[in-house]
Amino acid sequence: MQIIKSITAYFGNIYESVTTISMGMWITFKTAFFERKVTLQYPSHDVIKGESKDESIPSKKKLKLPFEPLLGASQQTYRGPLNTQVTERYRGLLGYDELKCISCLLCAQNCPIDVIRVKGVKIEGRKGKAPTTFRIDYSKCMFCGFCVEVCPTDAVFFTRQFEGATFEYRNLIREFINPELSLERLQLAEVAKKKDMEKKRKKQKSEGKEE
Ligand code: SF4
Ligand code: SF4
Repeated sequence: MQIIKSITAYFGNIYESVTTISMGMWITFKTAFFERKVTLQYPSHDVIKGESKDESIPSKKKLKLPFEPLLGASQQTYRGPLNTQVTERYRGLLGYDELKCISCLLCAQNCPIDVIRVKGVKIEGRKGKAPTTFRIDYSKCMFCGFCVEVCPTDAVFFTRQFEGATFEYRNLIREFINPELSLERLQLAEVAKKKDMEKKRKKQKSEGKEE
């Protein structure tokens, strides 16, 4: 019985070795002979859109390989290197949509290294608070995603933009609300505050009369 077990294990090991080596060799063979090899010409190849900005580089429609029909990879469906893109879930530089922001401060409070600065004011016709400052210091951001996760309105999100290199440190500090808009909102907030106080005063007056 022990001999049968040993023989089965012996041939089982041989089978496993042969199949795993064959699978690996098939991938090597496929890549070596059937896959299109193209050098991506960075930065003329736009890896965010997955297309070349340089017209002298043949597009995927112009390139043809004899093996492609055999593999069933038509020029339209082929997802080779010329189509190479940064993946959808890539964590690039943070983006911000001020129209969605309610200045709840959650992103700033949850950022472990104080990268985000937010200020907001209450103005008429806007849900929550309208942001007057939204600043991100890209030089410190470690792309942990805490701010993105906690944002209740998806106002802060990851883009696929990865080209953040600059010669000037201050270029890495991005103000998303321009000074004019910020000033306008501060003025609107003053108006809203005055109206609010007026309302309260009238209410107190009417309550006083009733008493
Ligand atoms: S990704 Fe992380 S480090 Fe960067 S701003 Fe958001 S919370 Fe802060
Ligand atoms: S968590 Fe979202 S809504 Fe709140 S301040 Fe940050 S970006 Fe704005």
